[in-house]
Amino acid sequence: MINVTKPFLPPQDEYNQYLQGIWSRIWLTNNGPLVNELELTLKNYFGVPHLFYVTNGTIALQLAIKVLGLQGEIITTPFSFIATTSSIVWEGCTPVFVDIDPATYNIDPALIEAAITPQTSAILATHVFGNPCAAREIAAIAAKHKLRVIYDAAHAFGTSYQGRSVLHQGDISTLSFHSTKLFHTIEGGALITHDADLANKIAHMRNFGFHGPDTFQGVGINGKNSEFHAAMGLCNLRYVGQILDRRQQLSETYHHMLKSLRIGTPFLHPSAGFNYAYYPVLFESEAVLLKMVKALHGVYVYPRRYFYPSLETLSYVQPGQQMTVSADIASRVLCLPLYHDLSMEEVKMICRAILRAERY
Ligand SMILES: *Cc1c(COP(=O)(O)O)cnc(C)c1O
Repeated sequence: MINVTKPFLPPQDEYNQYLQGIWSRIWLTNNGPLVNELELTLKNYFGVPHLFYVTNGTIALQLAIKVLGLQGEIITTPFSFIATTSSIVWEGCTPVFVDIDPATYNIDPALIEAAITPQTSAILATHVFGNPCAAREIAAIAAKHKLRVIYDAAHAFGTSYQGRSVLHQGDISTLSFHSTKLFHTIEGGALITHDADLANKIAHMRNFGFHGPDTFQGVGINGKNSEFHAAMGLCNLRYVGQILDRRQQLSETYHHMLKSLRIGTPFLHPSAGFNYAYYPVLFESEAVLLKMVKALHGVYVYPRRYFYPSLETLSYVQPGQQMTVSADIASRVLCLPLYHDLSMEEVKMICRAILRAERY
């Protein structure tokens, strides 16, 4: 059986070495030495000034909305994982969808201004499938209308734009280190910002607002992560270069073998350094997609319809928001299996199954 993804696990003895340290210190959580080491290592890896390791990517989004004090409407993309929208609603704000660019599958900057109202407080965009958003256009709109910008960068570990990490963009970027992501800490996430004031607030807010043992700076929540999770991250970071290379090779094989098919793939900006987080293919119609899914299930291959359905159809958002492009792409896009130890033979087998299904 081949699933759409498979978590990476480091050699067990490398993890055990970290466990020995934890057993000797008996410091399990609350900003421990491994959490600090992971934060420092990631900051250096991305070249960013402030990074906070938290419980998961969803808490990172919720903290970002909270720490910026957002209210009213937040302009967002309908083509993302559900947490992008649900976090907005969870924080008491209203998601206002803006359709996506049919070439990149990211929020279309040309449509944002028309959706701005006096209630708009921010733009929350996703670098979907690791493909960088049109950050320069979004920044110009945000500056003109005094809006905050959050990037859901859950797919963008290792993605760069014009030579540096996309995590430099916006007021806050958030990451997910869930087991299904290309770099993971079992569960985990992070917030990244350039703003020292925001950094100070995030540091307090993820730890109940504690400011010293008996004093509090504002309302907080428990967004901390543990030494055990940080240890997994420190182990996995040693392999992330290999993981990225391997995903690129596998993606190139898919590309080469599926060239003759009538399928689309997202347009990647020439200045973007892509991380091969996913291998999305866009079929001609939903009927073709369903035929392919059936053919792949027949050979025990389980791709996923990331992201389906388009998020404007959720029961808890304002009805009647027509997102023609997103609804269309969501109905036709399929993510093929892609992970570090998928073999070339398996990729070829998957491609042959698709090519065969296309013919018959
Ligand atoms: C995975 C993901 C999240 C949520 O991250 P968790 O760590 O699972 O909470 C948020 N946004 C996007 C786009 C994701 O893919």
